[in-house]
Amino acid sequence: MLTRDFDLIAEELKPPTPSMISTIAPHGGMSEDVLAKARERAVRAIIRYRDAGCPEPVNPSVDELDRVMRFIIKPEQTGCIPLLRHELNIPHDVGAPDWSQDEIAPGTSFTVAVIGAGVSGIAAAYRLQQAGLDYTVFEKNKEVGGVWWENTYPGCRLDTPNYAYSLSFAQKSDWPQQFSCQSEIQKYLSRVSAEGGVRPRIRFGAEVISMVFDEPSAQWVLTVRAGDGHIDVMRFNAVITAVGILNRPSIPDFKGMDQFKGRIVHSAAWPKDLDLREQRVALIGTGASAFQIGPAIVDQVKSLTVFQRNPPWMLPTPNYHDDIKPGMMWLLKHIPYYGRWYRFWQFWIAVEGRLPLVEVEPDWDHPISVGRANEQLRQECMAALERQFQHRPDLLAKMTPNYPPGAKRMLRDNGVWGAMLQRDHVQLVSEPISHLTADGITTQDGQLHGVDVIICATGFKASDFLHPIRIVGRNGRDLHAWWQGDCRAYLGITVPGFPNLFMTGGPNTAVVVNGSAIFSSECQVEYSLKAIKYLLENQIAAIDCRMEPFDRYNQYIDKGNLTKAWGVARTNSWYKNSKGRASQTWPFGLLDYWEITSRFNSNDYEKLTTADLPEKNSAMCEA
Ligand code: NAP
Repeated sequence: MLTRDFDLIAEELKPPTPSMISTIAPHGGMSEDVLAKARERAVRAIIRYRDAGCPEPVNPSVDELDRVMRFIIKPEQTGCIPLLRHELNIPHDVGAPDWSQDEIAPGTSFTVAVIGAGVSGIAAAYRLQQAGLDYTVFEKNKEVGGVWWENTYPGCRLDTPNYAYSLSFAQKSDWPQQFSCQSEIQKYLSRVSAEGGVRPRIRFGAEVISMVFDEPSAQWVLTVRAGDGHIDVMRFNAVITAVGILNRPSIPDFKGMDQFKGRIVHSAAWPKDLDLREQRVALIGTGASAFQIGPAIVDQVKSLTVFQRNPPWMLPTPNYHDDIKPGMMWLLKHIPYYGRWYRFWQFWIAVEGRLPLVEVEPDWDHPISVGRANEQLRQECMAALERQFQHRPDLLAKMTPNYPPGAKRMLRDNGVWGAMLQRDHVQLVSEPISHLTADGITTQDGQLHGVDVIICATGFKASDFLHPIRIVGRNGRDLHAWWQGDCRAYLGITVPGFPNLFMTGGPNTAVVVNGSAIFSSECQVEYSLKAIKYLLENQIAAIDCRMEPFDRYNQYIDKGNLTKAWGVARTNSWYKNSKGRASQTWPFGLLDYWEITSRFNSNDYEKLTTADLPEKNSAMCEA
């Protein structure tokens, strides 16, 4: 793009399609010979750019962009070019609304409430602002960031590649690591909210406790509690929820919890004053949070006892904690668009990601894996486990999962967890917990494990979407009662009976082996904006999802989830709800979600004009 030298993307330099098993080959699997040629040409191009005085890059034409994209992607993947253009964001912000309220409905009043100022809430606010809409963001915390503000436990960091884990309209080219730490991501979100101009529209310390649809006015009536207990009741034409799914801690209810003399903390509510030096510490759980906490505290504590119910599958990621190398940092800093193309690469890899590796093959018969590719992944991960625990068969046995890889979140492994378990003052207990006593944790074999502090890294109530907000829609329908713990939505965004209510991070939208939550959230926000545009253009008060597309869509999702390891495995995970249905996971590729959310089909919705709506609805409007 800088030099317009298309020799740099000559056919002979094309990287082979990288195969992704547990790890992806460096440089997309290019041979040393081709790599040397590519480096030589790249260096010459950089020198030319320097000698020309580092001119501002001229925006590439669409043809030029496509040519570069086609150099990387597979020929059969050209369908994903629009998605990749969105993520690349050159030369312009593809996801921006192509309209404004002033243009399409001048003089009308239309207000939107956004609930939550984490990544999704910031994205929603930014797009609403671009469309010139009147909006207010309610955030229960004192700062933006959501989970990245709340989770301050030692070792907290990203576990998806960072260049793809940022907003398409606010890319950052100087992430210090491939998987950045919590404070870095929090700083980024804080900066985006300030520079994006949305911060003044956020009401901090304001928790939405209920929302009731008032049919006569076709407005949502929100009851909002401020930090000082003050209650406000406010009306909005539409609501976008951005409350996240992994943020309401799940704290186990062990017998005898009230007897324990020491401190019990949850990973997501880490007390600032918690001093673990010389303490005997219990870590309950071996999910993503525990995996980061354990190695970060092991040097301080007197002893660490890890209580494991099911071992996780570990995904070898040797560079997990590494800083970006100086050479790469130089390129990111000095070569315009380098970071964008790096993001492009990470995104393209994630379009399918590890999805083929978790595919269920009906003719595959194995006690653990669900298909041939899944078996290959299992064997690679097993080989890595065996290498790490070659001198500790006891630990290898405890660390060997008996369920297919991908049935629950696979954890990034650069060896620190295995090294931690092999320290003298660390013990891995796989005997189930029976109860707590004043002095510690007793397991079912009757053994008391004396501890001073218990850390519950026991996850979140992921399947309780929008909990604990009371939500009442048309005809007095209570959302939580209607869902009965088995949450569903159309496209993960709208629910019949709840007009003009749009969710981000809703049911079945979590991408778990391909991409990140930010991608889905941006799709949901852009879809919501398209729906609002439709309302304004057509002077319709509200749209209400019809049952037929809702049912059809949910059948498609359920069928899809049964083709993936998590859909058929019986293991516990936050992917499933208490009924055993995978209500969190999106079972297809990123392109599929992009395509179904990139157009708003008004036929999927019943249209409500204020004239159609009942005149009075006294009971429902009571806050
Ligand atoms: P999690 O994956 O749900 O893991 C919870 C752990 O606690 C599991 O090992 C679970 O065992 C165990 N557990 C739960 N209840 C228990 C009980 N009563 N007794 C004993 N053990 C119990 O939760 P998480 O580690 O907080 O992670 C949740 C998700 O958040 C992750 O999958 C990831 O998507 C996200 N996350 C991301 C990052 C990041 O780097 N970006 C960091 C942390 C978390 P079982 O396996 O047997 O259920």
